[in-house]
Amino acid sequence: MNIILLGAPGAGKGTQATRISEKFGLPHISTGDIFRDNIKRGTEIGLLAKSYTDKGQLVPDEVTCKIVEERLKAPDCKDGYLLDGFPRNLFQAQELDKFSKVDAVLNIDVDLSLLMARLCGRRVCKNCGESYHVDFLGGKADCERCGGELYQRKDDNEETVGNRLRVYNEQTAPLIEYYTKKGVLRSVNGVGDIEEVFARICEVLR
Ligand code: ADP
Ligand code: ADP
Ligand code: ZN
Repeated sequence: MNIILLGAPGAGKGTQATRISEKFGLPHISTGDIFRDNIKRGTEIGLLAKSYTDKGQLVPDEVTCKIVEERLKAPDCKDGYLLDGFPRNLFQAQELDKFSKVDAVLNIDVDLSLLMARLCGRRVCKNCGESYHVDFLGGKADCERCGGELYQRKDDNEETVGNRLRVYNEQTAPLIEYYTKKGVLRSVNGVGDIEEVFARICEVLR
């Protein structure tokens, strides 16, 4: 099954993706992770992406679409994939329709008023990418899954988060209607315990 994870920044896409990917045996493909990896390695794509991710703006469509199109050709995507963070605007959605077939779009719905606190308190594992929140870490500094070191993403600050939420409202939210019209949208309430939200997701993916 080819699944898209849709939702505002901080809705819990990455958190749920880890669980969905394990349970359904699908490769988790996050465009944000791909950009951060390129930035870390100092590649040409990384240098370009950094100027956008630092400001909370979208990396140009041409670059982003090409990366995804190539990634979906890899053998691990043969029996399905879980795309997290792509598409993020109508143009990307239309491009994706040209090179792949989307079976289900899982929309994680969280009121925007909750997202600033979720994102500014987010801590991410350097090693496996798992997300945590300072409020629930109780002072722990390493990842529960792999023992990796936790860090705060450079774009998880108030100013950049403000931009990312604006970009979401203007460019990404219209995809809800786009996929509703195609009859593939499945929405879940993203407020509640992580395991509770995961149970809702399993229910709609059955
Ligand atoms: P996204 O990938 O959609 O940007 P993340 O999965 O990284 O979001 O989660 C953003 C922040 O919200 C993290 O700090 C994470 O620990 C926290 N979070 C995720 N799911 C929930 C939830 N159900 N309730 C409260 N906080 C959550
Ligand atoms: P979050 O999970 O908090 O929404 P991501 O890790 O998905 O954040 O994305 C981080 C940044 O990477 C975005 O603010 C944007 O600059 C860039 N990015 C990720 N996916 C895309 C995409 N599909 N198109 C353009 N830019 C993207
Ligand atoms: Zn880890």
